Amino acid sequence: MAPVPAVCIENVHKRFGAVKALHGVSFNIAQGEFFGLLGPNGAGKSTLINALAGLTRADRGQLNIMGYDVVREYRRARMSVGVVPQELVYDPFFTVREFLRFQSGYFGVAKQSRQWVDELLEVLDLTEKADVNMRALSGGMKRRVLIGQALVHKPPVVVLDEPTAGVDVELRQQLWFFIRRLHQEGHTIVLTTHYLEEAEQLCERIAIIDRGELIALDTKSDLLARGIFRSLHVVASRDIESVPVKVRDKVKAVHGCSMELRLRRDSDSVVEVLDTIRGAGIDVRDIHMEDDDLEDVFIQLTRRSPASETSGGSV
Ligand code: ADP
Ligand code: MG
Repeated sequence: MAPVPAVCIENVHKRFGAVKALHGVSFNIAQGEFFGLLGPNGAGKSTLINALAGLTRADRGQLNIMGYDVVREYRRARMSVGVVPQELVYDPFFTVREFLRFQSGYFGVAKQSRQWVDELLEVLDLTEKADVNMRALSGGMKRRVLIGQALVHKPPVVVLDEPTAGVDVELRQQLWFFIRRLHQEGHTIVLTTHYLEEAEQLCERIAIIDRGELIALDTKSDLLARGIFRSLHVVASRDIESVPVKVRDKVKAVHGCSMELRLRRDSDSVVEVLDTIRGAGIDVRDIHMEDDDLEDVFIQLTRRSPASETSGGSV
């Protein structure tokens, strides 16, 4: 029998008044995956994650974590997942250590987890701040505490909603190192980010949602292969004075002896294009091809850049 999926999302709908935040989203995440959930601002990513965490209730559909229904088996589902929310919510009167201990108490694991809390403080570089009030911490530090908070009960599934938004480069790299380690130790990781290069580096499979609907779900390599265009870079032995008419509409840039062309994957032949260029008397010395990156594919699929706003009410 196949192992139960880490996350199972089936036909989930959620409205906020007139806004359809989620409109029939379904997909599964296998145990041990490093999964990316991408989409423009307002696409419904946080709503989906909050529904998984039991923070908001879906109007329709079903969500399971490690086989447990997040509504009917809330307690077990909640024990199986650690969520780092997008919004920083915390009690400003707690110290960092108190906050983490309190959380472990909530999960009924306070006794077993004293040592684990100390370990978390250490690995998140918070030991020095352990007895400082939450309200006195910088945004980046608070983010670390919230990651610790998501892990106090050692959940098999870890969900991070934009964990690196507004975080400086150094902390970002530390966080990725730490999250990679969690993944290597066997945790299932679900990550939303609008830094596409992060998703491109880290995630094995990627779902793209847009206006509350799933518009793509694929391995990273298959998603990248969906790019409509690729680039051909040509280097000639001399400066390129004029571009052959036949390929002029494909030329993106000419700089001295080099030229970049955008070719359609489905209909442009690299060989024919090169023949045309050589036929026009350009002595080609070197070429290289470059695939579109995830950001290009994302824009083609959603027709928006990752950080742009969508009008929430539209269908
Ligand atoms: P994302 O995380 O992808 O940026 P969200 O899930 O936060 O998107 O939001 C999806 C849509 O639902 C947006 O149009 C947002 O304005 C709306 N929305 C989210 N939460 C609420 C709420 N509590 N009340 C009203 N509208 C909401
Ligand atoms: Mg969000």
